[in-house]
This record gives sequence, C-alpha cells and structure tokens, in this order.
Amino acid sequence: MAEQHNTKITPHVLLFPFPSQSHMNPIIQFGKRLVSKGVKITLVTTYFVSKSILSSSTTTIDIEKISDGFDESGYTSADSYESYLKTFHEVGSKSLGDMIKKLQSEGTIIDAIIYDSLFTWALDVALEFGIKGGSFFTQACSVNNIYYHVHKGLISVPLRSSISVPGLPLLEYWETPSFVHSHGDPAWSKILFNQFNNIVKARWVLTNTFYKLEEEVIEWMKKMWPVKVIGPTLPSMYLDKRLEDDKDYGINLLETDHNVCMNWLNDKPKGSVVYVAFGSFAQLQHEQMEELAWGLMNSNANFLWVVRADEEERLSKGFKENMKTEKGLIVSWCKQLDVLSHESIGCFVTHCGFNSTLETISLGVPVVCMPQWTDQLTNAKWLEDIWSVGVRVKADEKGIMRRDNIMSCIKEIIEGERGKMARMNGSKWKDLAKDAVGVGGSSDKDIDEFISELARG
Ligand code: UDP
Repeated sequence: MAEQHNTKITPHVLLFPFPSQSHMNPIIQFGKRLVSKGVKITLVTTYFVSKSILSSSTTTIDIEKISDGFDESGYTSADSYESYLKTFHEVGSKSLGDMIKKLQSEGTIIDAIIYDSLFTWALDVALEFGIKGGSFFTQACSVNNIYYHVHKGLISVPLRSSISVPGLPLLEYWETPSFVHSHGDPAWSKILFNQFNNIVKARWVLTNTFYKLEEEVIEWMKKMWPVKVIGPTLPSMYLDKRLEDDKDYGINLLETDHNVCMNWLNDKPKGSVVYVAFGSFAQLQHEQMEELAWGLMNSNANFLWVVRADEEERLSKGFKENMKTEKGLIVSWCKQLDVLSHESIGCFVTHCGFNSTLETISLGVPVVCMPQWTDQLTNAKWLEDIWSVGVRVKADEKGIMRRDNIMSCIKEIIEGERGKMARMNGSKWKDLAKDAVGVGGSSDKDIDEFISELARG
C-alpha cells in the first residue's frame, strides 16, 4: 500500500528480475538504493527461486511470488531454454497479472514495475493495469546498442566483417557478442535481439553502468529513450559506504566456502593471488579446463579458482592430486566481492560477465580476460582496449586458450609493465565508480530523478 508518512506518500515499485543470481543482484541493489531514499520495494520472483534462497539479508524488501510454469524444479526441468522462455511468457504473464490484481484488490498502489529487459511481455502486463514500466538492462550499453542494431536490421547476423556502430569504436566481428557472429542458441538470440520490441512504450530505460564508463554510447541512447544510468550496483559498502547494512548482494542461491577462502587469502602476500572465476552459467570444455589448470600451475602464482559443482567433473583428477594446497585453492563458489577486495589479490582471470566486469572495475582489480560466449567477448574488448585494465588471452583456431598464453598473460599482469598500467587505470575507474553513486554523482542524480518522476507520473 502506498503509505502515508506525515503528508508524504511513499511510492511503491515492483522489481521483476530474470530469476537467476546474476540478473537478480543488480535489480535488488537498485531496489536497496530506492529503499534508502524512501521508496517501498516489492521483489517479484518465481516460486522455484523463492524456495531456492539459501540466505537473504534483504529485510527491507518484500517478496511476491509468481509462476514460470516450473514451480517445483525451475528451468532445469524444461526441455530446452526455448521451451522454458516460452512457458514463462505464457504462464508468467497470467501469473504476474493475477498477482497485480490481488495486490490492487487489497488496496496496494503500484507506481511502477521495473522488469528485466529480457521480459518485454512484463511491460504489456503493466500497461494493461495502467502501471508505468521501466526496462532494466543488466548488460553494457555498448552491447545493448549492438543488439538494437541487429533488431532494427542494420546488422545482419551472422556477422562476418568488422562493424561501425554509433557510439562505439570499430569492432572486429569476433568482438561482437557471440549471438551476433556465430549461430548460438536461437532462443537466447531471439530474446536478446527482441529486448527493444516495445521499448518505446517504456517510461524508463534503466541501465546498470555508469556515465563515465560508457559516455559516448550513453549519450547516443539518451537521444532515443528516457535512459537512467544507475550503476554500478555493487553493495554500497564497496563504493560510497552510505548504506551501512549493504555489505552483500542480499539473496544467495549458491552455497559459499567463505571462511575457507578468507583464511587461505589471509596467509598470502599482498597482490600475489590470481583469482579465477567464470560466473554462474559458463561451461568450459574439458580441454579448456585442462589448459587453464596447467596455465595456472605453470605461472607459479598463488591461485584461488572457483569451479562450480556442475563443472567439477571436467577437471582432471591428476591436476587436483598434483596441486600443492599452499599454492592453489579450488572452491565451488565464493563471495566474489570479498575475494576481489582482499589485498592479496593481484589479478582476476575472468569470463567477463558484466557483473564481474563492473565489480573488477569498481574495485580496481586488473584482469586477464577469458571470454566464453554472449556479451563476454565484447566486455573483454572494452576491458583491454578501452578501459585498459587488462589483457585478453588469445585463442587458437579451435577456440581454445592454451596454457602458455594463459601463463604469460598472468605473468604480464602480476609482474610486468602491462600490470602496472592496468593497476593505475584500475584505480582511476575505482574512483570514478565511487563518484558515480556518491552524493550528487551521475548515477545518484539519475536515481533521484527516477524517484521524482515516479511521483510526477
Ligand atoms: N559470483 C560469486 N561467487 C563466485 C562467482 C561469481 O558471488 O564464486 C558472482 C559475481 O560476484 C557476480 C555474479 O556471480 O555478481 C556473476 O555474474 P556475471 O554477470 O559476471 O556472470 P554470469 O553468471 O551472468 O555469467
């Protein structure tokens, strides 16, 4: 219910992320910023995800549940992503509508629904109920702009030559997202290219980046849509420290080996550890795992490597047996922000997912990029060439990044001149990220404007 505090009405916003850890984190963080500025927030998620929450510190955010058609076991029980996304659209639209009806019948006012840009259908549902909608993009503006040009038919896929897109430098075809230059999963391509289907009806286009990071393309997008740039959405205690209780992303769907990681890192010299993680989706082939394992071992650096439980079988037993535990630690999941901000970390070997990208930029950690698919290839280009905070490992003709290349990139960043430059640039971006969300910063102002537009209608 829109609550009355003295004479002030509390605006109420529903947040509807794609139900996965890396899509939920940024929207929930945006929600926490809104709460700190007096907005009431309700998180909408699926029955399955709500059952899978292992721990939650988001006490100021209510949760409402809807059905994606897979209430018992989530998307893993669907035949394919295509059938999951199709069912979610059909069942989810109705379930979201029913939930809104229920809230409204209880007298709850909903001022806006902020939905994941992948769920364009949520805007149609919101508008049916006379509620304003805001599309929330969790990927970089450069990536969104490439997808927009595909959507408009201005880039034909699969792309086979370099391209020039407004607001972006000239890109080789292999630097565009994988769905643009190779035949990826058709269901994902469709959903990504179609994020712009009904964007003209959105009251806001929110994006998790910050102005200085993507200035030119943001300016270009602002000419077309009511863009609000609200990131980076790291918990406040890693940035401006204005929200004292905001120390982690809030909702955890995976078990962490936190104490094991921290105790191990505490024993390591400053800047000596290579942190290796590939996010929540990427599936490395066995051959790539093997090359990475020996690249790490041969670099002779200390390393902390996240190998998710669903990937472990692809790591050879021989490697684990040979690994000296004082040199290397393998865990199934960690608190990445705590690891990245530990002073023992010297570089981040990353798949370049956009959350990991923003986290490393915001914490000033230099990177060795090993992108696998989707937007990671484009983020890697930016990390190396535009933001100059690291290097990309070259792949061979089979697409595999070999151990010698991995090893020399790690050495270049930990010990070499390239590392010194990357650390210098990293510390500049770290300050700019903090400024963006601090009082009067570009993202802080856009969040304030969003709130005043909520009130104005
Ligand atoms: N992450 C984490 N612990 C890990 C590995 C990753 O907490 O061991 C978090 C990381 O901080 C980031 C998210 O998982 O917020 C991964 O998102 P990203 O966009 O980088 O990759 P995706 O999972 O979408 O491929």
